[in-house]
Parts: sequence; structure tokens; C-alpha cells
Amino acid sequence: MALKMDLHVHTIFSPDALITRKDLILYAKKRGLDGVAITDHDSLDGALKIAKETDFLIVPGMEISSLEGHIIGLDVNELVPPRLSVDETLDRIHEAGGLAVACHPVTFFKESLKRRISPRFDAIEVINASAFPFNYSVTRSEEIASRLGIARVAGSDAHYGPEIGYAHTLVDAESEIDEIVMAIRKGLCSPHGKAIPLTMRLKKELLLLKRKFG
Ligand SMILES: [Zn+2]
Ligand SMILES: [Zn+2]
Repeated sequence: MALKMDLHVHTIFSPDALITRKDLILYAKKRGLDGVAITDHDSLDGALKIAKETDFLIVPGMEISSLEGHIIGLDVNELVPPRLSVDETLDRIHEAGGLAVACHPVTFFKESLKRRISPRFDAIEVINASAFPFNYSVTRSEEIASRLGIARVAGSDAHYGPEIGYAHTLVDAESEIDEIVMAIRKGLCSPHGKAIPLTMRLKKELLLLKRKFG
């Protein structure tokens, strides 16, 4: 049976996110997910901490700010530093035993790799539920994935609990991190999902402002 995984979720360990451990598990279960990848900005601490504290399936990862766009490292066993070139970042992810995902490769308002995607990536995040404009982003990312013959994945890029699960990857694997990573490497996965509604995004922005200014 395929596992339903949201492979791109931020927690309060990212400066711009509101999701606590409690929210994460609550909404992941509510959406019928079998697991999530925690991918905080340039930090692995939250992912490792939460993975240790819960029985829910967590793939520890991080979203790395490379010099030329964001790159997700899944199942990395050590911190990959930000502000390296794409090639150096990919080397570091692979040295750390991880899987490199070109997240939101074509979108506005995010640090996107666009033309810098190569077959050195293990997967492309074809569906990112926070991407804008959503349909354009999915179509273009889909084109890149087929041109390069790379595995396709999806994630919500949630920064706020209710956003979790708007996109998910179906992974043909047993419920073990190693198995999941191996299945994605082989392309035994498919992306699914839709855009996070605008009203929900606005609510998140308001909550973030409230947190910032009290
Ligand atoms: Zn990003
Ligand atoms: Zn993100």
C-alpha cells in the first residue's frame, strides 16, 4: 500500500512558521497522512527533536538556502550549510546520506532554482501547494521533470497547521525512512494536491504579524 506523505512542512524552528509539534501531528492525522518530512529553513534541530518525541512517521530534512535557490535535503544526517552553490549543496546533501529535492522550482515570491535544475537532483517538487501562480508552476515543473527524467514529489510547504496536507506524495514503500527514501530515488512515487486557499494564507500572514508585533 502506498504511503501518503507531505514532504515539505515547516515548524516553529523556521523563523517564519507557526507549526508546533502538537499542530503538526494533529493536522497530519486529520488530513489522513501517514507521515511528513520536516524541512525547516537551514535547520535540522526541530526535525530531529520532533522525530525523537513522537511515534508518528517523520522524515528529518531541511530546506537549504543555496546561493541560487532553495533545495530540500531529505533524510540528511547532518546540517548542510546555506549559501553554497547548487553543486556544492548537492554534494553536501549526498555526503550526508540524503536525497536532494528541487523544491518549488518555478514560482514567484520564493527562491527558485529555475534553470539550475540538473539530473543530479534526486527529485523535483512538481506540486508545491504554496506556489504562485499554482497551475503555471505545476505545469512548468512537470515539464522539467519529464525532460530530465527525475522522480516527482509534492509537498504543502505549510507554515501554518491548517495548510498541512494540501499536497502530498504517494510513496510505494513500507513505513520506514530508508524504504521511503529508496522508493523516491527509484521514482516509485507520485505527486498530488491543490493550492492552499488564499484566505488561509492571509490568516497565516495575520497570525505571523500578530506574533511579531504582539
Ligand atoms: Zn522555499
Ligand atoms: Zn519551504
